[in-house]
Amino acid sequence: MQIVLFGPPGSGKGTQAKRLAERYGIPHISTGDILREHLKRKTKLGLEARAYMDRGALVPDDILIGLIKDRLSQPDCASGFILDGYPRTVPQADALSVILTELGKKLDVVLTINVPDAELIKRLAGRRMCGCGASYHILFNPPEHEGICDRCGRPLYQRDDDKEEAIMNRLEVYKQQTQPLIEYYTNKGLMRAVDGAASIPEVFDALCRVLDEIQKSAL
Ligand code: ADP
Ligand code: ADP
Ligand code: ZN
Repeated sequence: MQIVLFGPPGSGKGTQAKRLAERYGIPHISTGDILREHLKRKTKLGLEARAYMDRGALVPDDILIGLIKDRLSQPDCASGFILDGYPRTVPQADALSVILTELGKKLDVVLTINVPDAELIKRLAGRRMCGCGASYHILFNPPEHEGICDRCGRPLYQRDDDKEEAIMNRLEVYKQQTQPLIEYYTNKGLMRAVDGAASIPEVFDALCRVLDEIQKSAL
């Protein structure tokens, strides 16, 4: 299955995508994680992306389109993938459709996680990350030992763009540049939505119900 997991920053895309990837046996591709890896390794791309990311702006489309083209051409994407954080603009969505056509594939669904703004702000402000890719919330999804990753035991950190000013900027950028994709994919008949304001396991169940239905109807 070729899946786009869509939603505003803090809606739970990363949290759910990791669980879905395990359940459906397909890779989780997060452009945010890929970019943060470049930042960490101080690659040319990372140095270029940093200024945008720190203030919560979008990294230019040509960079993202190149990244995603490379990633989707990898052999582990042969039986599908879950995209998290891409596309975020109409040109990125157009490019995705060209890339998939070249690869002889098509999108099965764009699954949107809907969450009200007030809840997004609470989620982002309390998010804590680990270098291993795990993410937590100080109140809603705390690690067993405060400040320490359950999976690998390393100390957790707060992303620079999860500080208050960047959060407000990211929500604004989402509304201006990313939200138009809802209409874009609705017009293509690919859009499905779930209520993301419920607990992590409840949202997971709702997402699985939609995906199981799509998988069944494709048989
Ligand atoms: P996104 O990838 O969409 O930006 P994340 O998956 O990183 O979102 O989730 C943002 C924050 O909210 C994290 O701290 C995460 O632990 C927490 N979170 C995710 N889903 C839920 C939920 N259903 N209820 C409460 N908190 C959640
Ligand atoms: P979140 O889901 O919390 O908004 P991500 O981890 O998906 O955050 O992305 C973090 C940052 O990386 C974004 O604010 C943006 O600067 C950059 N980024 C990630 N994906 C894209 C994309 N598809 N287009 C442009 N910038 C992106
Ligand atoms: Zn860890």
